[in-house]
Amino acid sequence: KNYSKEDIKRLVEENDVKFIRLQFVDILGTLKNVAVTVDQLEKALNNDIIFDGSSIEGFIRSEEADMYLKPDLNTFEIFPWRPQQGKVARLICDIYKADGTPFGGDPRLVLKNVINEAKEMGYEMHLGTEFEFFLFHTDENGNATTITHDKAGYFDLGPLDLGENVRRDMVLTLDNLGLEVEASHHEVAPGQHEIDLKATNALDAADNIITFKLVLKVVAQRHGLHATFMPKPIFGENGAGMHSSLTLYNSNGENVFSNKEDALGLSKEAYYFIGGLLKHAKGLTAVTNPTINSYKRLVPGHEAPTLIGYSTSNSSQLIRIPAARGNNASIELRSPDPSINPYLAIAGILKAGLDGIKNKIVPPKVMSYEELATKNFSILEEENRLPVNLKDALIALSKDEVIKEALGQCYDTFIKAKSIEWNEYSSIVHEWELNKYISKY
Ligand code: GLU
Ligand code: MG
Ligand code: MG
Repeated sequence: KNYSKEDIKRLVEENDVKFIRLQFVDILGTLKNVAVTVDQLEKALNNDIIFDGSSIEGFIRSEEADMYLKPDLNTFEIFPWRPQQGKVARLICDIYKADGTPFGGDPRLVLKNVINEAKEMGYEMHLGTEFEFFLFHTDENGNATTITHDKAGYFDLGPLDLGENVRRDMVLTLDNLGLEVEASHHEVAPGQHEIDLKATNALDAADNIITFKLVLKVVAQRHGLHATFMPKPIFGENGAGMHSSLTLYNSNGENVFSNKEDALGLSKEAYYFIGGLLKHAKGLTAVTNPTINSYKRLVPGHEAPTLIGYSTSNSSQLIRIPAARGNNASIELRSPDPSINPYLAIAGILKAGLDGIKNKIVPPKVMSYEELATKNFSILEEENRLPVNLKDALIALSKDEVIKEALGQCYDTFIKAKSIEWNEYSSIVHEWELNKYISKY
């Protein structure tokens, strides 16, 4: 796609579009939008729509209150779930300052900067996403519960698999919006599903993640359900990950990660990329697993990674090498969960990998479970374990100059927002504490 302003005007006219939503995300990855009527289209296409940045999380700097939205024309899509007369379309936007220069605190710019760095090195990263999520019933007020449709289906709805119909509707809607779905299926936990998006370039992949979440929420709601991307909604069940398959291509479109001679089918660059991801794993976790709840997923026994290593099969390792070879060679990063700000997370992932290539970081040999078991546990904790909570991850991030550099101007606002979250969580008296201590002490 390579839309011009004229193309957009024509598409709007031909499709009877009446509203345009100008979209962007805040520092937490939450989708924001300003809706304008079609009369404002000209103004929007000339990047003249202003919004008050001081009221958006992570943009909090009063002197930068007036921000401009610059639509990325190639992101034009019509929402299929809105009325088909007087349609609603969206454009994903970059954020500009009043002086006409890009706003450094815009997560999308942060990702673009790292993508450019890769490009200068001769690479383009593609990323495919395995989205896991839960579908829950809503209560009489429309609020989400943790009652899964599976269970309710068993008692209330007879043989009808509500989830299957919702998933089908989701896949069709995604397809309608140009997101290519590779597979979809029920996942291990009750009420848990997975939809996999085909790999695409890093910027589209990040935009698609935002669109994906919106679509799933909307479609679930239409079916009277709530779709959540909370990483671990039910204790004792598997959590929801967003495994990401990564591949680098060179400017000729050749897969740089492939080497058919290698035992795992991987090239030198692929191993260095893995080396970079492993080296920066701890700091990176702050952006790939950015919520308090993310760390309730990263525990042993639930197919989620806990160890900083790579393997072809062991699901507790951070990286898995899929069986595909040749032009389909890729590496799978297993830590990300769907609560990420995709722009920041992908920027961090790419930067870590590029650092591996630049500095020829050779990943340590794959360690077997037997080898791990003979190691002193505290060493294991220190060296090979992913951070166990958000605070440890944030501290690791603060010590990782490479990932910090990737986040650019978003680093400070990210740390600020996440420190507030951590401080709030750690001062609250939780149910668990009451159960554990109130009678005992
Ligand atoms: N739900 C698991 C996770 O938290 C992943 C299961 C799978 O391998 O698909 O990462
Ligand atoms: Mg899965
Ligand atoms: Mg997977």
